[in-house]
Amino acid sequence: MKEYDPRMHSAEHILNQTMVRMFGISRSFSAHVEKKKSRCDYRFTRDLTAEERRDLERRVNEVIAADLPVRAEFLPREEAAKTFDLGRLPDAAGDTVRIVRIGDYDACPCSGAHVERSASVGTFRIGSTQYADGVLRIRFRLQD
Ligand SMILES: [Zn+2]
Repeated sequence: MKEYDPRMHSAEHILNQTMVRMFGISRSFSAHVEKKKSRCDYRFTRDLTAEERRDLERRVNEVIAADLPVRAEFLPREEAAKTFDLGRLPDAAGDTVRIVRIGDYDACPCSGAHVERSASVGTFRIGSTQYADGVLRIRFRLQD
């Protein structure tokens, strides 16, 4: 499995949870996470307004600045399935599922590397948003 940049990967989790909370939609169904620039794709009905982009950026940065601890815990698969959508995990993931928690803000099944505290992510910047055929794409980067 590819090792993502831990800062970008934690930013992706925070962005996903913020999209869930702001718009009541699902986490991104597709993501390209790179060290310099990343993008997440969401099933949605339209592009974001300029105000929503600003609001989203501000909310993600508030979570980062709160310096929440990022912890991994392991749950039996049956237990995890009660709370989380495990549909995207490979069956080979086994009987135990790793859950990554960012404070009390976000929890998500994940096997990747993360920062230890959210403030290490830096500053989250939306590069652009784009909408086509039911897919909202958000491009973002991080500043130190
Ligand atoms: Zn992850």
